[in-house]
Amino acid sequence: MSESAATRLLAVREDIASAERETGRAEGSVQLIAVSKTFGAEEIRPVIEAGQRVFGENRVQESQQKWPGLREEYSDLELHLIGPLQSNKAREAVALFDVIHTVDREKIARALKTEMDRQDRPLPCFIQVNTGEEAQKAGVAPGKADAFIALCRDEIGLNVVGLMCIPPADEAPGPHFALLQKIAARNGLERLSMGMSGDYPIAVGFGATHVRVGSAIFGAR
Ligand SMILES: *Cc1c(COP(=O)(O)O)cnc(C)c1O
Repeated sequence: MSESAATRLLAVREDIASAERETGRAEGSVQLIAVSKTFGAEEIRPVIEAGQRVFGENRVQESQQKWPGLREEYSDLELHLIGPLQSNKAREAVALFDVIHTVDREKIARALKTEMDRQDRPLPCFIQVNTGEEAQKAGVAPGKADAFIALCRDEIGLNVVGLMCIPPADEAPGPHFALLQKIAARNGLERLSMGMSGDYPIAVGFGATHVRVGSAIFGAR
């Protein structure tokens, strides 16, 4: 019989704790976001029952189908949007999610701000940086990050708390995590959303405050 998601969750938690110890990070300084995209409520529920409260999803529509019901069952869930957002989905995203990780264009930043004001939900936002400058990947280019952070924070008035990245799949992630850490530090941003199933212990060593782990908990998609 294969391991359950609840068992794998505990293993991931232990890995994070030992990475914290080994890299001199404070105990509990890294928050685990369990990425449940493509999995249904019946697969998510045992992970909630095992104690996990913070989840990540990458699609607004898919999330609308499964999370309102789970939120009725469990009142203390926290839901993070980690996938690209279209500005015509900003209303639904602000209503459903508690944290947005993927702000990367002026249009989406303004649409989010409008909705956050309208719904009186000033959600914490991460700005996504395309550290590998990959054409197909979302995120602001590293060279434009400082100006975009200033625009979002000072002009638009978003509650910018940190930066997020997804390193190129075929490269060592360390230099990308280091670059994200450097951009955050020079902009006075304290939170770093980086590290997935394949590399979250490495991300902890580079200062991740939020790791986004899917398949290591839920299994292959
Ligand atoms: C799917 C996804 C993850 C989780 O990926 P795993 O490799 O399954 O851990 C993390 N971040 C983002 C943005 C994702 O879309």
